Amino acid sequence: MTNAMISQRDRDVLWHPCTQMKDHETFPIIPIARGRGIYLEDFEGKKYIDAISSWWVNIFGHANSSINNKIKEQLESLEHVILAGFTHEGIVRLSERLVVLAPDGLSRCFYADNGSSAIEVALKMSYHAHKNNGANKALFVSLSNSYHGETLGALSIGDVALYKETYEPLLIRSVQTPVPHNQSIEAAGKALEAFELLLKEKSNEIAALIVEPLVQGAGGMVMYHPYFLTQAKVLCERYGVHFIADEIMVGFGRTGSMFACEQAGITPDFLILSKGLTGGYLPLSVVMTTDTVYNTFYCDYDPYRSFLHSHSYTGNALACAAANATLDIFENQNVIEVNKLLSSAMAKELLRFQGRTEVKEIRQCGMIGVIELHGFDPSVRIGVKIHRHCLGLGVLIRPLGSVIYVMPPYVITQIELTIVFDAIESALNEHCV
Ligand SMILES: *Cc1c(COP(=O)(O)O)cnc(C)c1O
Repeated sequence: MTNAMISQRDRDVLWHPCTQMKDHETFPIIPIARGRGIYLEDFEGKKYIDAISSWWVNIFGHANSSINNKIKEQLESLEHVILAGFTHEGIVRLSERLVVLAPDGLSRCFYADNGSSAIEVALKMSYHAHKNNGANKALFVSLSNSYHGETLGALSIGDVALYKETYEPLLIRSVQTPVPHNQSIEAAGKALEAFELLLKEKSNEIAALIVEPLVQGAGGMVMYHPYFLTQAKVLCERYGVHFIADEIMVGFGRTGSMFACEQAGITPDFLILSKGLTGGYLPLSVVMTTDTVYNTFYCDYDPYRSFLHSHSYTGNALACAAANATLDIFENQNVIEVNKLLSSAMAKELLRFQGRTEVKEIRQCGMIGVIELHGFDPSVRIGVKIHRHCLGLGVLIRPLGSVIYVMPPYVITQIELTIVFDAIESALNEHCV
């Protein structure tokens, strides 16, 4: 079987995510036959370093033997069971572990099966908890430039025009408050002033503030100081507004701590996890919340006070086995400490891009490294050019417009990191001078 044979069959029947299919008339989709560690391999033996962790999910490499084994073991006893009225050992254990790992006070786990669905769960829960307390609060605040997923509710509270604008008539109401414009404390302070003004004006309507802690992902890897989170949480408490932390991308060690909220010393009212939760193996997401929220729903049966939300695959046993295996790796291998070495290697690699005329800024947060270029005309499609150039060199990156970022699995070596940044440098030399 050749790459071309699979790509052709693919083009006849598939419609790929976030893709203009016509682009692939001239640049074929790449069929992957197998993955191992940080490498993906096509049907003709060409290897690619997966430097974006397959859309930010894969934290311990492909075909990781310890995760593989735990899934196989689980498969022998139970693949899936309805989670209403039933439970299984894997999900109980996973929930116990998450409660221990998460910031103090997050004591309840509600599961869904992807990031966007978990966002929908948190929005509904927040609104409903206020309602159970006799308040009608139906407005959500998010940060400018934020991304929280693409189902309608999640899309509504996000602020990336490219994804959102077309669907505007279908969306629920939300307002945005400015994201700090850089990683300084001053920028955080300014953004907090704007947020407090909004709260003064509208807090009686506002259910929650939702943020991507420390790093805004799909909006272009915008990074800000933890001080913003610490103080925004204080303001939320003062004004009776929930604080929702969307750690779908930043959770599980990506920013240098297990959860980004730790760096701000806060416990959000809702913590949302997905992507890295199963090591990038199987779809699973969780909304963690507090006893305070949980108790507003806890009562003698009353359909209007109960949280009537469900997904068929909620709490899938194979996905939970993958998640438990992922947490085992965190426990056994001192991952957060090892990542500190990798992050400083990444910082060194980024330095070589400082001062290039086409580079606007380099920035980093933990295991996310960014080289932002000065604005190119969108018609140039600079990101696509760099993506293709790097693929030619066996490196998978997917720039967000003129924002080039590297977000590798944590099992990458320093030598492999150098290969990734060499490819990016070569792309800039070819396409930006
Ligand atoms: C990926 C992502 C989502 C959406 O998750 P899906 O599983 O793709 O639906 C939401 N929020 C953030 C911050 C994300 O990175």
